[in-house]
Amino acid sequence: MERVKNLQKRRAQNQSNMKTNNCKLVLNMIRDNLKADISRADIAKSTGMSATSITRITDFLMESGLIRQAETITNGTVGRNGIRLQVVADAVMTLGISIDSDYIDLCILNFADQFIGNKKIKLSACGYQAEEILEIAYKGFQELCKEMDFNPQDISVVGISCIGNIDYQTGTVFFAPQFQWHKVELGEMARKKFGLPVFVENDMKSSLIGLSHRRQDIRYEDVTYLSIGTGVGAAVMYGGNIVRGSDNAAGEVGHIILESSGRLCDCGCTGCVQTYLTKNNWLEQSREQGHEFCDVAEIYQSYRREEQWAMLFVEKQAEYLATLLRNLVYMYNTRHILVGGVILSDFPELYEVTEKKIAGLLHENLWRGLKLERVAERDNSRAGAAFAAQENYMEQMLYIG
Ligand SMILES: [Zn+2]
Repeated sequence: MERVKNLQKRRAQNQSNMKTNNCKLVLNMIRDNLKADISRADIAKSTGMSATSITRITDFLMESGLIRQAETITNGTVGRNGIRLQVVADAVMTLGISIDSDYIDLCILNFADQFIGNKKIKLSACGYQAEEILEIAYKGFQELCKEMDFNPQDISVVGISCIGNIDYQTGTVFFAPQFQWHKVELGEMARKKFGLPVFVENDMKSSLIGLSHRRQDIRYEDVTYLSIGTGVGAAVMYGGNIVRGSDNAAGEVGHIILESSGRLCDCGCTGCVQTYLTKNNWLEQSREQGHEFCDVAEIYQSYRREEQWAMLFVEKQAEYLATLLRNLVYMYNTRHILVGGVILSDFPELYEVTEKKIAGLLHENLWRGLKLERVAERDNSRAGAAFAAQENYMEQMLYIG
């Protein structure tokens, strides 16, 4: 009897999931067609759903205030099916916050996927507590609203991108070495601070979500994103879905070993990626070679002046980066690999030297199929935080239990 009840419950759940998924499918079609005309008939044709189902779903979406009918009629067709549907741009306003070790980056995203405001706040010193970070973010948000003449109460949901290993369902940050945070309930604290639903995501995964939402060519593809800068990290998606692993730690590539008897890492092992390909370790490695700098930009300049040591230094770092990329190809085998982070955005020369080395490290068919490129912009994590929160919020709105 109990089993039958459970089965019935599961069947009911599956049916409501199907309704929710159909709603999402229709809504996403309208949202993906922001710049073009789309009518109920077009949606029915593409999805294979009946005209009645589409009308029921679009009526529900209109009642929810997420879409509306446009004035124009497509293809001159008279009747309801020919009426163009479009999203209501201010239906859901999302605040995106990116927390990095040296800055906090804010943005406001509307429902038509436009960023209507942003603000970057430089952090002066290390060792902030989570409360302090949230206070800075909150003040920054208030200032941004003033600058834009925007009512803060129009925000429906907050997305936070944060460095570290994160439980994205609860918003717990298990560890964030740059801030020395251990098991910080960032999501819960932010919910209280902003009085809104909050979704927290790891910064690499946020960056990849940001990139894939902004670029239709990779939106539903297999993609690896690698970032080198203050730390080293990666994120992977297959068919547009983020790979999380059992502990949401898939992509924590900083501790992949490049040289078994190499430099000592804070994890206790030697030769980890992050003991080479980070800003601080570039400074340390150049110091060991007798070049004392405060800023990695001085290494870039030495290279640009073609100083012999800097040429060899960059050559070696490019070897490390090429080896890491090779490992990523064999580990994840994604069609696209995007490489970004502050070192590569400020010093594209490293990418150029690295790119030449990779062909020789891969089987020919893998190399031929690979689409490797450098990402120059650095605001993808805040964008991704906003997109992820918007999506989660929407899913909860559309959930038909
Ligand atoms: Zn390590």
